[in-house]
Amino acid sequence: MAIRNIRVAGDEVLRKQCKEVKDMTGRTKGLIKDMFDTMYEANGVGLAAPQVGVLKQIVVIDCNDEPYVLINPRILETQGEQTGDEACLSVPGKVGIVTRPDYVKVQAFNEKMEPYELEGTGLLARAICHECDHLFGRLYIDMIEGELRDVTANTEEE
Ligand code: ZN
Repeated sequence: MAIRNIRVAGDEVLRKQCKEVKDMTGRTKGLIKDMFDTMYEANGVGLAAPQVGVLKQIVVIDCNDEPYVLINPRILETQGEQTGDEACLSVPGKVGIVTRPDYVKVQAFNEKMEPYELEGTGLLARAICHECDHLFGRLYIDMIEGELRDVTANTEEE
């Protein structure tokens, strides 16, 4: 188990465009495993490679006890909208209101570089959008409605 250092907002690496993964290597497999370890350790529901300083299009998500790896993800379809609190491991201790689609269909590759499609609603749809944004240097704090707030006991669950 290897926990990597999570970069926080203000770090330039979070504002860069990530490169596509061409093929799976032992090094990339290790990165994915470390990303899961780091996300679980931080009690997050998603983590993107640039958050651990690696400019590759890799996202890990686990918001309902089902872990997903999304490599080179492309959002194919969105529907509806949801407005609610969002947080990010790279913006510790803060939450802000963001409107996202309520349904997302994404195409990606798994850790064997096999293409697959994933559909998500609710929190999973939000997590997919949030993490895919990271791969293009976008952070949720760019699109919050109102103020960035400090986490309180009430919002910690989000
Ligand atoms: Zn984030």
